[in-house]
Amino acid sequence: MAHCFLQVALDTPLNSCFDYRWPCLPGEEPQVGQLVLVPFARREVVGLIVAVKGETDVPVDKLKDAIAVRSQLSPLPERWIALARFAADYYQRPLGEVALPGLPKNLRVPKTVALDRALKKLAKVEAAHDATPSGMPVLNPAQQEAANAIGSAEGFAPMLLYGVTGSGKTEVYLQACAQVLAREPGAQILVLVPEINLTPQLEGNIQARFPGVMLATLHSGLSEGERMLHWLAAHEGRARIVLGTRLAILASLPNLKLIVIDEEHDPSYKQQEGLRYSARDLAVWRAHQLGIPIVLGSATPSLETWHHANSGRYRRLELRERAVRDAVLPTVKLVDTERDRPKDGLTGAVIAALRQRLDRGEQSLLFLNRRGYAPVISCDACGWISNCTRCTAFMVLHKPEHRLRCHHCSLELRIPRHCPTCGNVDLQPLGRGTQRVEEGLAAMFPEARILRIDADSTRLKGSAQAAFDTVHRGEVDILVGTQMVAKGHDFKKLTLVGILNPDTALFSQDYRASERLFAQLMQVAGRAGRAGAASEVLVQTRYASHPLYGAVMRHDYDRFAGSLLEERRQAGLPPFMYQALLRAEAPELATAIAFLEAARDSLVLDTVMINDPIPMTMTRVHNVDRAQLLVESSSRPALQHFLREWVESLRAMKSRVRWSLEVDPIDI
Ligand code: ADP
Ligand code: ZN
Ligand code: ZN
Repeated sequence: MAHCFLQVALDTPLNSCFDYRWPCLPGEEPQVGQLVLVPFARREVVGLIVAVKGETDVPVDKLKDAIAVRSQLSPLPERWIALARFAADYYQRPLGEVALPGLPKNLRVPKTVALDRALKKLAKVEAAHDATPSGMPVLNPAQQEAANAIGSAEGFAPMLLYGVTGSGKTEVYLQACAQVLAREPGAQILVLVPEINLTPQLEGNIQARFPGVMLATLHSGLSEGERMLHWLAAHEGRARIVLGTRLAILASLPNLKLIVIDEEHDPSYKQQEGLRYSARDLAVWRAHQLGIPIVLGSATPSLETWHHANSGRYRRLELRERAVRDAVLPTVKLVDTERDRPKDGLTGAVIAALRQRLDRGEQSLLFLNRRGYAPVISCDACGWISNCTRCTAFMVLHKPEHRLRCHHCSLELRIPRHCPTCGNVDLQPLGRGTQRVEEGLAAMFPEARILRIDADSTRLKGSAQAAFDTVHRGEVDILVGTQMVAKGHDFKKLTLVGILNPDTALFSQDYRASERLFAQLMQVAGRAGRAGAASEVLVQTRYASHPLYGAVMRHDYDRFAGSLLEERRQAGLPPFMYQALLRAEAPELATAIAFLEAARDSLVLDTVMINDPIPMTMTRVHNVDRAQLLVESSSRPALQHFLREWVESLRAMKSRVRWSLEVDPIDI
């Protein structure tokens, strides 16, 4: 019998393409993009066919037969494979490690049963396609202009939708979607949001506007069954709008015509483990590959995007005013904590403002980016503090759960009754997290309905959504929360935002800290006064004259971003420089550093600058020491060229040290 040879990408850490033999009946050859079951290392695994060939270099006695081709699934499009290939090359990972983990688990298990069943189910949910939108509000002129620009853009057209908080960016996206859906039969649109918690709000909006259009969501909160169903709906072109978090950027969308990245500045678009990709950057590449428009929306664009808008590479669309009639941006005031000393973490000014909101029946939000009760407990008698035994970090006091917890290695201990060193029974919490603020508020305002929203209060599936619904229904007077509540939410009854302890980020050594703090403060401030009532933001700070706070007070993103960009240009930092970070982990710091030194010396190119290895700021996590090495170049292609060779030489070192490479790191 005649044979052909399948080149198959497998999810393996080293080079990931392997050849297999397949009996080739004429006219029934497998196709590139199909999934195939193959034997690998005494197991059976599913891989992706990336080439079908008449010949192979693999010696006959080494060659194995593929077991089965998954023919029920239509092949993944060539352009999708090209996207995966680009991401693999750019982030210096093998193709299979990029292409396969993005597919629903049920497609990757050796059994095909799951697929058969899911297909059956889908036949039922198939919706008749009717792109007529319903209940579209009348846009204001700036919104209309932006929506038309997006809706009528042709070819690759990257656009920044720069609109202040509450300017109605969502309506612009929806109108633009309506135009694209009406114009292009079968068009698909991908909409990304940074956080899973923001999907229900937007999902509701999209469903209400496009009742006849099939919407599929893709995020980590779906069950495997749902994930499979939604992924297939996208892959088969039936889902016209796909709404998801960063992982959705790798969805198969054969008829993609528009990409929307909401809150494009958000660091959550960066995957921080495994394949450390930026969904925003991949989205721009994908739009370029397909020759389609892409909208990046934000009130506080990332400096990368702002830089592109300034240089004319991205078209800038602006919404300078809030959309709702009479709604204006909140008044921002700084409360000097040297003069107005906080009691239970709250200054007199904030307490008075809260009291006023309670009397008027309006909502308030207190923002504190620190969960738990207190970041550390200590013994006054001997100086003992609750260090984690496995990390360079404190054990955080979680009072309701009666636990000390390390937020880095998840070690948990009961709260000690007395000091482990000297026996003193009077251990004191130091500092303040959301739980402690909540406790102080309850004592101060016993009549108020107080709700805390943070990672601890929303551990259970569905609980975050339930909590946000409670706020939207007006059943909360004072909301206390971490960055979870700062983003994107359209709280209509909120007229006061108190920002409790933002100062620590002012003095961080991370050069991105001020960009982030500024964006975060502008975003959380932007939750206030969205429905029209006069609103106010109070920032408690010891550094009231700091220019960052001045810019927040004036809502002056433009000037602040301009000055940060100028600093970055002078200091030779991104977006004027391209970076990659090599990280190493070992039980002893010296081992990690030695590996990085050898790595540094293993390849020298004069277009790339290699810095010296340094321990990471949080050196030890879960009993492993971590160090890093930064490489930089003013040319992206030069850096890419260097990295390709470097990865080869790093692999050839065959070190026992665990290492990983990150391209365009955002935490240095
Ligand atoms: P952004 O994403 O820019 O912060 P949203 O899209 O959440 O703002 O819109 C803020 C509020 O303005 C929402 O309640 C929305 O319903 C309302 N809104 C948006 N556009 C209009 C419009 N043209 N007329 C009336 N209300 C609008
Ligand atoms: Zn002690
Ligand atoms: Zn720890």
